[in-house]
Amino acid sequence: MTRPLIFDGHNDLLLKLFRSGGLSARGMFETGSDGHLDIAKAKSGGFAGGFFAVFVPSPMSEERDEEKMQNPPYDVPLPDPISWEDAVPVALSQAAILLKLEEDGLLRIARTSGDIEAAMAEGRIAAILHMEGAEAIDPEFETLHVLYAAGLRSLGPVWSRPTIFGHGVPFRFPSDGDTGPGLTDHGLRLVRRCNELGIMIDLSHLNEAGFWDVARHSTKPLVATHSNANAVTASARNLTDKQLAAIAETDGMVGLNFATAFLREDGRMDEDTPLETMIRHLDHLLEKLGEDRVGLGSDFDGAKVPKGIKDVSGLPNLRKAMRAHGYDEQLIEKICNRNWIRVLRSSWNEQ
Ligand SMILES: [Zn+2]
Repeated sequence: MTRPLIFDGHNDLLLKLFRSGGLSARGMFETGSDGHLDIAKAKSGGFAGGFFAVFVPSPMSEERDEEKMQNPPYDVPLPDPISWEDAVPVALSQAAILLKLEEDGLLRIARTSGDIEAAMAEGRIAAILHMEGAEAIDPEFETLHVLYAAGLRSLGPVWSRPTIFGHGVPFRFPSDGDTGPGLTDHGLRLVRRCNELGIMIDLSHLNEAGFWDVARHSTKPLVATHSNANAVTASARNLTDKQLAAIAETDGMVGLNFATAFLREDGRMDEDTPLETMIRHLDHLLEKLGEDRVGLGSDFDGAKVPKGIKDVSGLPNLRKAMRAHGYDEQLIEKICNRNWIRVLRSSWNEQ
């Protein structure tokens, strides 16, 4: 049940290691941690890798926010912006953890789709260096170029809280994502530069206005790495059918987010959530996007996931649920890894 291997749209391992002590804590990835993702769990779950997010946390009370999200309806206020000066050291520390894990031989940083396929063939984890929120990017794109050279291949202009590049979507339920203005002029320039370099733009934390700004200006497939269907769960973080239609039109894709607040119809953050809620979103995404445009985007180490999954070692239960629901092997393989590889090939200017 560990096949097909799962290549996944989002995890927060780097934030977890950063908070646990940074470079000196990275051994946890090899020896085992209390988190969602380490080498042993990856092996037993058939986890082939995915997008590893660099994320600069806000100095805020996450506990208070979690409490709100356990009691819908809610509208969690967005934290204040973070300055470039404050963001750069944190972002570089997290990127350094990933580079060091590669030096340790524990994973391979993927710069091309061929890197992902080669890592999968040799049984090594493939990691895409992703940035969730562009606070560490300056308007001259100096840090963008350095980070691209270090392997950056995916970027969300915002993680919900505002940046110089745009406005994000708040954690609000029930709501659609039409919550305010979209990208700034700097944001539109960022989209163009990322298109040129071959850095995939991630739509997951943009509001609707920002989504349509990217749709109008990007030359690449539209991709939301970890988002669900608003028609099933009316969270502002989820995508409306109109947005899904635009994603299908550009041959982009969506990775299913395992966060229970974005899966459950009542919007509640609660681990006691059946796996059928994941299938319900997959069914809707498949109906609106087609079978070549749906993947997984777990949010491991960054969200409360259903207890039937628990952590990466629980991924076989998701494969089992997909089979029990009648998805055939070809479709399951597309959802597990093929679709991500296809869309990355195009996002990274390989075709
Ligand atoms: Zn996220």
